This record gives sequence, structure tokens and C-alpha cells, in this order.
Amino acid sequence: MDKFYITTPLYYVNASPHIGHSYTNIAADCLSRFMRLKGKEVYFLTGTDEHGQKIFRAAQQEGLSPEEFVERVAPRFVDLWGRLSISYNDFLRTTQDRHKKTVQYVLSILYDKGDIYLAEYSGWYCTPCETFWTPTQLSSPVCPDCKRPLEELKEKNYFFHLEKYRPWLINFIKNHNGFIKPVIRRNEILKFLETPLTDLCISRPRARLEWGIPLPFDADYVTYVWFDALINYISAVGYWYDEKKFGRFWPADVHLVGKDILRQHAVYWPIMLRAIGIEPPKTVFAHGWWMLGEGKMSKSKGNIVDPLELVATYGEDAYRYFLLREIPFGQDGNFSESALISRINSDLANDLGNLYFRTLGMLEKYFSGEIPAVYPPERILEEKLKKLPEELDGAIEELNFQQILISLWELINLANKFIEDSRPWELARTKQKDRLSCFMYNLMEVLRIVTICIYPFMPNCAQRLWKQLRQGRGWGEVNFADISQWGLSPPGTKIEKGQPIFPRIM
Ligand SMILES: [Zn+2]
Repeated sequence: MDKFYITTPLYYVNASPHIGHSYTNIAADCLSRFMRLKGKEVYFLTGTDEHGQKIFRAAQQEGLSPEEFVERVAPRFVDLWGRLSISYNDFLRTTQDRHKKTVQYVLSILYDKGDIYLAEYSGWYCTPCETFWTPTQLSSPVCPDCKRPLEELKEKNYFFHLEKYRPWLINFIKNHNGFIKPVIRRNEILKFLETPLTDLCISRPRARLEWGIPLPFDADYVTYVWFDALINYISAVGYWYDEKKFGRFWPADVHLVGKDILRQHAVYWPIMLRAIGIEPPKTVFAHGWWMLGEGKMSKSKGNIVDPLELVATYGEDAYRYFLLREIPFGQDGNFSESALISRINSDLANDLGNLYFRTLGMLEKYFSGEIPAVYPPERILEEKLKKLPEELDGAIEELNFQQILISLWELINLANKFIEDSRPWELARTKQKDRLSCFMYNLMEVLRIVTICIYPFMPNCAQRLWKQLRQGRGWGEVNFADISQWGLSPPGTKIEKGQPIFPRIM
């Protein structure tokens, strides 16, 4: 059995989850469900990043210890993933023992090898961003990221050698086309690698920040939060403590990340792995941002859309569908509630909902709900049905969720046209039983195929529809390969008409 190891970033728990977090996890969930349908053993990892200055501060502001604070915030992510049917199989928190021990193990290897050194560092520090800036990176003492004033700071810290691995990384990226996706991001990283890398500061003095994983070789320091967090991708699957599990799942097949954290994942992370003698992940995919009005949604801008509210209003299936359909995965897009409503009305209520409701209604009316005998595919549908598996496979491979849905909707619209063109009411009136049976069987097969394909996007709706279709086999036995087979709808079975799945929103 093939494996598929997919990860999301660990979300920083200094704020509640927003639409951006949910976007990454919905995409990861959709891909995981496709891979499970294809018979792969999926390991889907998500979690929370719980160390560092920002969390220490946020806890202080609420009069809590950092431990108490993270205990309170982490469950908000777990709740949201429950509401969105995110089918992860591991939720890693960086405060867990398995993770802390792995971080210390990695640090010891690097220290023993001489890849970590102590040096005095002088620079400009942005407290909210927890970032040191060197004078060459600045034109004025203002943080390039958040535009807040910087403090000048001199301290001793531990550094990780990045520069000596730069030639290796450039070669690696050039020889592995699929390592950074989409290609525009790959080019950005290659461009970034044209100039020497500044070594990465991987520690914080305990005197300044206590909330972190202690360095195993110097008790006066804790680990820098980024260095700590990246290691989760190997600590979750048993690096050094569970050889069998690690051998099974590493290298990860896909790290899904937002484009703002690509450098950490496509530069620091592969170098860290190289330094400890581990293969890099197969693909790092950087997706775009959801904007609201002018800018990226962020806590500091106060322009956050609460996913829980949207789900309460429109339902999780519609929300999931909208995020993956509206913009190509990898590009930025603007969020608007009116766009969400129009997707629901046109794609879900009209195209998809009508196809199911009309088909099941006709089956009820003309055949007392009983699936007729097997008939071959009709000409109007045949060509599209033949192409569909290959089209979907190609789009899944590229994480092109929008294209999967566009291709699928071509079939849905073709089937709706097939209904119009066939004039079933005429066939019934003139008692052309044979042609009517053929018509119905074709539509039932389309519904079966469509239900399988929408499942990774809208798992709840698909499971409900599958029950109505009474396909015989349980949902758990469904395989993606079933979409390239004709004639699996069992004749003689009685379907359940049910209610319209997506009522129109006025
Ligand atoms: Zn800043």
C-alpha cells in the first residue's frame, strides 16, 4: 500500500483561527480524502505552534502563565477542524514531549557536528515580529515587516551555518522540479539563493525569554521558535524514537504552506534536514492569501473573517467548496460574502442540486424509485466520462482544486443538458419505456460518479447523497477507480428522493 504524508503548518496560537488557517486545512483535507479514495495510507498532520515571545506576551496580557494560555487557545483549533470535517490523523503541539525531545536531539547532532556556533550579535530587533534585522537589510530603524520602530540590541546567541549548504540547495532545487510549487515560487527562491545566506540565529537568551525549548548544550538559552516549529514534521512521525514509522512516512509528500512562510520551508528546512542527514520533503506547495478589501487578513489589521460564523450561516460543505473553487490554489483572492452566495446559488443549488433533485424525482415518478436495468452510456455523455478520470488525476497531481471542479462541473452541466434534450416527459407520455430506462440509468451513473468526485470537497453532502443513491456498497468500500467503470449502479435498488441539498439563498 502506497503512503501519502501531508502536513499543514503548525498554527501559532497567539490568536484565534481565521479563514487563512481554514483554507490550508481544507485543501490538505481534500487532498487527503482523494488519496484515501485512491487506496493510499494517508498520514495527515496538523497542529499548533506554542512557544515564543508572542505567546509569552499574549499570556501575560491575560494574566495567565504561558502553559495556561496555550491550554486555553489550542482547543479552538481542534474545535474548528471538527466543524469543518478536517480528517487529520495527528495533531501535534510543540509543547508535547515527543516534539521537545526531538528538537533537542536535532540540536545536539548539529552542535556536535560543528554546524552551530556561539557569536555576539548586534542588530535591530522587532519585538512583535521576534526578528533581528542586520543594518544592511534596513534603510531606517523601522521593521520592514510590520513598520514598527526597532530596538538596537547586542547579545550572544547560537547560530546555524546556512551559507555552506547554499550550493547544495540550489542544485537540489534545480534537479527536483517538483520540490517547490507553484513554479513562480520556485523561481523566487532560486533568485533569493543567488546572494549569500545569513546564518540563522537559533537561540534566545533565557534572561529575555523563558518560554521555549532549552538548548541541550547551554541552559542559559531556549530555542528560537521557527527552528523549533519546523522540526515538527519529523518529530510527529517518529524520527529517532520510532524507526519503523519514520521509515514508512518520511519523506513527506507535501508540505502545504502560505506563501509568507515559504522561505522557512524551502530554504531553512531542507538545509536543516541535509545537515542531520535526512532527505528533504518531496514537495513544498505555497498557496496564496485571502484578502479582504485592500490587504491580507491579519489580527493586527482587524479585518478577520471568522470561519465559524460563515459555517454557521452557510454550512461547512458550501464554505469548503467556495474556498477551493473561487481562486486557483497558489494565487491570491478576494473574499466576499456575495461571491460565496452566488457560488452557492449557481453552482450548488442550480447546477448540482437540480441535477440530483430532478433525476431522483424522475426516477421516483417514472420507476417508483427503482433503478432500471443497465444501459450503455449515451453519446452526449460518453466522451466526457472517458476523459474525466485522466483530467482529474492530472489536476489532483498539481493540487489544482479549481480545475478538478471545473472539469467535474462540465459533466454536471452536460447531464443537465441531457435532461433538457431528452424530453423525458415526452418519453413517458408516449410510453417509450426502453428509451426512458436508458435515460434514467445514464443519469444514475452520472450521479454515482459525481458523488464520488465531490466527496473530497464536500464530504458531508456526498455521504448523504450516497445514502440516497443506495449504491449497495458502503461508502468505505468506494474507490476512486470506480469513476472509470460503467454500470455499477445496481438495477432494482430503490433510491430515496430526499430534499434539495442546497436551497437557494435569497
Ligand atoms: Zn516587526
